This record gives sequence, structure tokens and C-alpha cells, in this order.
Amino acid sequence: MTKTTCIRNAAWVAAWDEGVRTHVYLKDADVVFTGNTIDFVGKGYDAGANEEIDGSNLFVMPGLVNLHCHPYNQPLFKGFREELASKKLFMSALYDCTAVYRTDDEGRQACAEYALSELLLSGVTTITDLSFSYPGWFDWLDKSGLRAYVAPMYCSATWHTEDGNKVDYKWDEAAGRRAFDAAVKLIEDAENHSSGRLSAMLMPAQVDTCTEELLRDSLDLAEEKGWPIQIHAGQSVVEFQEMTRRHGVTPIQWLNQIGFLRPGAILGHAILLDTHSWLYWPTKDDLALIADTGTSVAHCPVVFSRYGMIMESLGDYIRSGVNVGIGTDTHPHNMLEEMRTAAILSRVADKQTYGITTAEVFHAATAGSAKALGRDDIGRLEVGAKADIVLVDITHPAMLPVRDPLRSLMYTAAERAVKDVYVDGVKLVGDGEVLTLDQKTAGEKLEDAQKRAEKGVPTLHSANLTAEQVSPLSLPIGS
Ligand SMILES: [Zn+2]
Repeated sequence: MTKTTCIRNAAWVAAWDEGVRTHVYLKDADVVFTGNTIDFVGKGYDAGANEEIDGSNLFVMPGLVNLHCHPYNQPLFKGFREELASKKLFMSALYDCTAVYRTDDEGRQACAEYALSELLLSGVTTITDLSFSYPGWFDWLDKSGLRAYVAPMYCSATWHTEDGNKVDYKWDEAAGRRAFDAAVKLIEDAENHSSGRLSAMLMPAQVDTCTEELLRDSLDLAEEKGWPIQIHAGQSVVEFQEMTRRHGVTPIQWLNQIGFLRPGAILGHAILLDTHSWLYWPTKDDLALIADTGTSVAHCPVVFSRYGMIMESLGDYIRSGVNVGIGTDTHPHNMLEEMRTAAILSRVADKQTYGITTAEVFHAATAGSAKALGRDDIGRLEVGAKADIVLVDITHPAMLPVRDPLRSLMYTAAERAVKDVYVDGVKLVGDGEVLTLDQKTAGEKLEDAQKRAEKGVPTLHSANLTAEQVSPLSLPIGS
């Protein structure tokens, strides 16, 4: 018999109200799930349950849906890349900073276990995993227990910079086609995975590294199969200028011309639109194009903010009618901190307080990301939705006083107050510990992987600089 669990008399619940299509607070309410499905959200559940959880010290909320992350390599960059944007490439870290710091398959697996642990601890229950394929990828996703969109990246060109002054593109369409075919096979395998928690997404990697033909074929297949499709776009000044040089229009306008913008399409970042203050571009069309076509944006503010770049502004995007989801992109894979940063930087961009609300950011990280994936059964606590649930300890000192649990969680406590996390009704985090993965051991393996990456820097760097020369420590080592 399938087990029924009742979280009884929860102090606070963020429940989905379909009538107003938003989350609402319920106080002293019950949340009940059977197997992997929620079958009651409200007051006074009077049927039986196999398991009762006392909710009197809990804030119960839907699992967070991470719309953009790269677990296979991002933890490696901790301590190396936070202050390492290219001085001559408009403060992007994509081109000559990332490329010199590489890992191997062993390192990728350590990265994955570490990142997936971080994600779970911050209340994430669904991820969009944008990785270059590596051995064991599905095994780690399966082991974690997370719900995952598998999105192997492919592209027709790679970036290359000889001197750090400009970016060149090494085109190899045949290789791009082979990677596309391999990605399709891989995501078909994901859909058929025995866990039932893996889904397919197409991920032509970047707007400036894919040919129009590759993108059109990707779109046709996405349409035919009903797969969501994501691409990095609007992520650097270099990309913006490259695309305007090639086509005379912005990356967003070009994507619109080739039919990419549509419901089911997701733009990773979309920060550098024609209206962005770093670009001085004469049109003001991009935001409306994204909104009018029903295209979604995966917003990952933390990584950009480290380099001094912000979206202008998240509140404006939402008010313009753009469906926005939230992603973490890089380390720390902490969705709650990402949400905090999203709210604060939107207000900084607006130079006022009221351009965005906590509710809007919470909506983006749950229902907004879910909508981008074409789902109405995740990112919400509602009868019939998946039992992807986060229990927050409202007695944690960092949550007190709890006048408003979302504000306490988002602006102060973050992952410290996340107690239990369920995906498909299975507990994956218990009392703040990941039950399915070993973050500590993964961290130790990451230490070794990072040492190997450090050694490899001079051979990959165009001027043979060492890791220490490329990215000096934040303090000099004294004697
Ligand atoms: Zn990314």
C-alpha cells in the first residue's frame, strides 16, 4: 500500500491558489501526500495517514525549481573565479578565465555530488542540469533523488582568445552536428530512465556559438517532441557586439528573426538587452519581444553581480509580462541566496524599493521556473501536484522572529533553516543533512581536483601564466 503522510497543523504553509494563480499563506493548515502526489492542502484534514509530522514549528513550502545550473564543473571554480572577469572583455569571465581551469571526469563527478548536495540543502527539488556529458551523469542525478531536466550542451563553435583582447570563434559544424545527435540520444535515454524523474531539454549552448541551421533544426525537434529548449543569450557585451556585427541586430532580435522566441524556449540570463546601460544601443525592442512571444528567462543574478553587472531590472521584466524563472548558474548552489540577490539587485537597478516584491521572486523560483518547463505540477502545493516539499524550521534562531516566514527565510536564514526536503514524496534532506549524497567526501575529492586544475593552468594559458598569477589569493601569504 502506498504510504500517506500528513504534515499536521503547520504553523505556515505557502499554498497555491489556482483562483488567483499565486501562492498564499495558510496558517495552522495540513499538507498531505500519498506516494509522490499531494492530496490535501488546507485546514482540518480528517482522513487517516500512515505517518504524522507535527507541523507546529514548520513553514511548509513548495520545492524550488532551479532553471539554470551547471553542476558538472562549477564547484571547481570556488576561490578562483569570483574576482576574475576579463579586463578587456567587458568584465565577462567566460572567455579567458574559465578556459584555463579545467577538470577531468573524476573532478566532474565530485563537482556534481557537491553541487547537487548544495542544491538540495537550499530547498531545490527540480534542477535544469546544463552540462557537457560526462561518465556517471545520470547515476549522480538518480542517486541524488532530485527531479532533473537533462540538457547536454552542444555548439558549432568554441570561443578562443589569443591575447585576451578579442574573442575568436573556432567553427566546426560537423562536430556541432555530432554533439547535437549525441545530445538527442542522451535526452531520449533520460526520458526513459527507470527513476521516472529525468526529463529532456535541448540546449544549444550559446547564441553566438551555434549556426542558424543548427538552431532551426533544434527548434523543429523541440517542437516535434514537446521538449523545452534553452540557450545562453544576452550574457556578455562580447556576445552582444559579435551578434550585432554579424547580423546588424541584437542577439534577442536575431533569435526572434529565426523563430527561436516562443513558449517552451528559455533564454539563459538575457541580461544584456538593447536597453541595458552598458550597451548604448538605439532600439528598445528586446524586452517586448521576449514578453510578446511567451519566451521565458532564466535569471541567475549572483554570478553576474560578482563582476559588477546586473539585470535592469528584474521587476521591469516581470511587469513587462516576461515569465521569469530563477537559476543558480554557479557556486554556491544556493537558491535562497540567489532569490535574495535577485530581489535586492532589482531594487538597486530601479533605485527604489517598490519595483519588485518578495512574492514575485518566490513566484519566479517556483511557479515561474515550472511554467518555463511547461509544468503545472511542480513549484506549488496543490492537490494533484508532485510531492516536492520543503519543511523550514521556524524555530531556527536565524528565522526568529517569524512575522513573515518567507522574508525571514529569504533575507536572513536561507539554507540554515531548511530542515527536510522531499521529492516525489521521498525524504532527501533530513534535519539539514543530505541523506542521498556525501557532500563532505565530494568536497575532499574537489580539493584534489582543484589542485590538478591549478597545475594545468600554465599549459592552457596563452601567456603560460600560473594559477597564482591569473588569480592571486585575496591576501598575500605572510612569512
Ligand atoms: Zn550558464
